[in-house]
Amino acid sequence: MLEKVEHRLITEDGRRIDGRALDEMRPVRIEAGVLDRSDGSAYIEMGKTKIYAAVYGPKEAHPRHLAQPHKAILNCRYHMAAFSVEGRKAPGMTRREIELSKVIREALESIVILEEFPRSAIDIFIEVIQADAGTRTAGLTAASLALADAGIPILDLCAGIAVGKVEGRIVLDPSEEEDKRGEADMPVAMAPRLGSIVLLQLNGRMTSSEFTEALNLAKKGIGVLYELQRKALGKKFATFTPAGEE
Ligand code: UDP
Repeated sequence: MLEKVEHRLITEDGRRIDGRALDEMRPVRIEAGVLDRSDGSAYIEMGKTKIYAAVYGPKEAHPRHLAQPHKAILNCRYHMAAFSVEGRKAPGMTRREIELSKVIREALESIVILEEFPRSAIDIFIEVIQADAGTRTAGLTAASLALADAGIPILDLCAGIAVGKVEGRIVLDPSEEEDKRGEADMPVAMAPRLGSIVLLQLNGRMTSSEFTEALNLAKKGIGVLYELQRKALGKKFATFTPAGEE
């Protein structure tokens, strides 16, 4: 029987299958205020990964017994559309989506000033429209921008990106094929001005020097995303017209 030969993911001259250099992220598009019916929203595209985030609130917490007397609660739902992946995904929430919702919520809790809104709730919805790896970090990047777009007080924006190990090399922003066939995948998110890491996960194995290299590479990517987030906010509010003055 013929064995299926898989093509190399990195060429002799250090290029990846989609032509990128090892430290190059996919083309990125970030926009704020893209949805009319939510209090704040954002859209992010990283290569073929496409995600919307929407924020509602602060509003009264329901059910009432969940309300916290001294701060708001943050509810977060990360969800992949049935048509976002190859082969239809079951439309309900999978275990993975429930876990990612928690991880993203915890990251956002470190930037939102929850004490400003006692007894309230802030709802965050992340909808993955098309997935090609890096959705948890791109979703978090969009969610933090949507919070800022909603005018919710935050200590800093946060942005995230994954780094991977592919054929022994550390690469920025792996695509789905690199993620699936690579040796390691490490999503990282930071609030750069606070100097905090708000999310860090590692699947697979890296040496400690590879880990340091990967973290530095993630930091570089996050710096770029952070600037794009700030630009998107600047663009949104530069064109903002107060109600009644349209
Ligand atoms: N994926 C998929 N079906 C699923 C879950 C994931 O096809 O039910 C793909 C999708 O492209 C996703 C990638 O696998 O982006 C990597 O998933 P992972 O769990 O590593 O999370 P992510 O990298 O998206 O944060």
